[in-house]
Amino acid sequence: MKSIPVILKPVFDQEEVLSDLALSRRETFRFFEQATERVRKIVEDVLEKGDAAVSHYTRQFDGCNVTDFLIPQARLEESWESLSSSFKETLKVIVDRVRRFHRLQKTNSWWLSEQGSFMGEWMRPLQSCAVYVPGGRFAYPSSLIMGVVPAQEAGVKNIMVFTPPDREGNVSPEIMATCFYLGIDNLYRVGGAQAIAACAFGTESIPAVDKIVGPGNVYVTAAKKLLYGVVGIDALAGPSEVVIVAERGARADWIALDLLAQAEHDPLAKSILLSDSEELLVTVKKKVEREWASNPLERTVPIYLYQLENLDLAWKIVEAIAPEHLEVMVSRGFEVVDKVKSAGAIFIGPYAPVALGDYGYGPNHVLPTQGSSRFASPLSVRDFVVASSVVVPASDPNINFELFAELAAREGLYFHQKSLLARMNRDLQADIRRE
Ligand code: NAD
Repeated sequence: MKSIPVILKPVFDQEEVLSDLALSRRETFRFFEQATERVRKIVEDVLEKGDAAVSHYTRQFDGCNVTDFLIPQARLEESWESLSSSFKETLKVIVDRVRRFHRLQKTNSWWLSEQGSFMGEWMRPLQSCAVYVPGGRFAYPSSLIMGVVPAQEAGVKNIMVFTPPDREGNVSPEIMATCFYLGIDNLYRVGGAQAIAACAFGTESIPAVDKIVGPGNVYVTAAKKLLYGVVGIDALAGPSEVVIVAERGARADWIALDLLAQAEHDPLAKSILLSDSEELLVTVKKKVEREWASNPLERTVPIYLYQLENLDLAWKIVEAIAPEHLEVMVSRGFEVVDKVKSAGAIFIGPYAPVALGDYGYGPNHVLPTQGSSRFASPLSVRDFVVASSVVVPASDPNINFELFAELAAREGLYFHQKSLLARMNRDLQADIRRE
C-alpha cells in the first residue's frame, strides 16, 4: 500500500516550525541563490543568441523541436470550437467572477489643487506584459485567467502569454481555447527560464515586454528574480504553501483533503496544520493516510501536523511563516483574523477551501510564497498600472522658491539652487557675491 509521510508532533515555538520546514530567511536566500546560479547560463545564452537559444533549451528541457513559437490564431479558435458547451459555460462563469472581483481594484489618478496650481498622480496601464502560464507538470487554464483578466481590467493592450510545449511541441487545448475566449492572440509555446529571458530582452521572433507576471517552477522564478530591473516582475511565486489553523470540532475529513490538495501542486509544496486538539490532529492523520492510499499520484510530499498548547502560538507561527494560503477553521474566524499580519490569501470557515480560490471564486490565485506575503500582495490590477507624479504650477505661481533652494544649498547642489532661484528672477552668483 502507498504511504505518505505525515509528521505529527508537539511544538513549543515558531522557530522550531521554521527550521522543520526550511522556511527561515537564511534558507529562502539559499534557495533563490542556488536556483539563480542554475538559470544564469540560460539567460545569458538567450541574450546572446536569441531564438536559437530559445529553441535549444526547449529541445533540452521540453524534449521537442520548435522554431516557430507563436501559435497561429486559427489554432486557438479551433480549440475553442472543439470544447464541450458545458466547459465553455464553466469558463465564461469563472472569467466573469474573476473579472468582477478585479474590476473593483482599479485605482484612479488623483489631483491636489492649491491656489491655481495642481499636482497629483497620473495612472496609466502598462504598454505591454507577458503572462507566464506554467505547463510542466499540469496545464493551468486557471492561471491563464488569473494573469490575463487583471491585465485587461487595467487596460493593458499588448498582452502576451507564454507556456511550455509538451514533447510533441503542443500546448493543451484548454489553454489555447481559454486564450481565444479571453481575446488573446499572442500565445507563445515557450516555457522555463528561456521564456522569461526571451520576453525580457526580446529575440528575433519574440517581442520584449515591460513586465512579466505569473507563477512557475524554481527556474522560472529564479529567472524573473535575476532579470528584475531589465523588466518588471510581480511577486516571486515559488512552491505553494498552506497553513490551516483549526480547533476541536473542525471537519477532519475536509482538512485532510485541503492539506492533500496543496501537496498535489509540487514536490516542494508545504501543507501544515496547527491545532490545540490532539483528537483532531490524530483524526486528520488517519484521514490523510487513507485518502493518499487510494489516490492516483505517485509522488509523496510530507504533511506537517503540529500540536500546540494553545492557539495563541498558532498565530505566532502564522506570523513567522507569512503563508501563501491560510485557512482559518475556528469559531468566530472573521474576528480572529485581525491577529494575522501577513498571508497571501485568507480563507475563513469550513466552506472556504483554498481550491475555491484556486479555481476562480473571485480573488487572484497568484500569491506571494515563501514568506514574501510580509511585503508583497496577490497579483492584481495594480500590478499592471504605473503612476507618474505630475506638477503643474499656475502661470503666475505663488511659490516660495527660496524655501526649496535652501534645502538644495544644505545638500551643496549649486545648479539645483540656481534653477530654483532663476524662477524668481534671482541670480545665485549675485547672492553669493553679496554675502
Ligand atoms: P513550469 O512551466 O513552471 O516549468 C516548466 C519549465 O521548466 C520547462 O518548460 C523547462 O523549460 C523548465 N525546466 C525543467 N527542468 C529544468 C532544469 N533542470 N533546468 C532548467 N529549466 C528546467 O511548470 P512546472 O515545472 O510544472 O511548475 C509549475 C509550478 O507553478 C509549480 O511549482 C506549481 O505549484 C506552481 N503554480 C503556482 C500557482 C500559483 O498561483 N502560485 C499556480 C499554478 C502553478
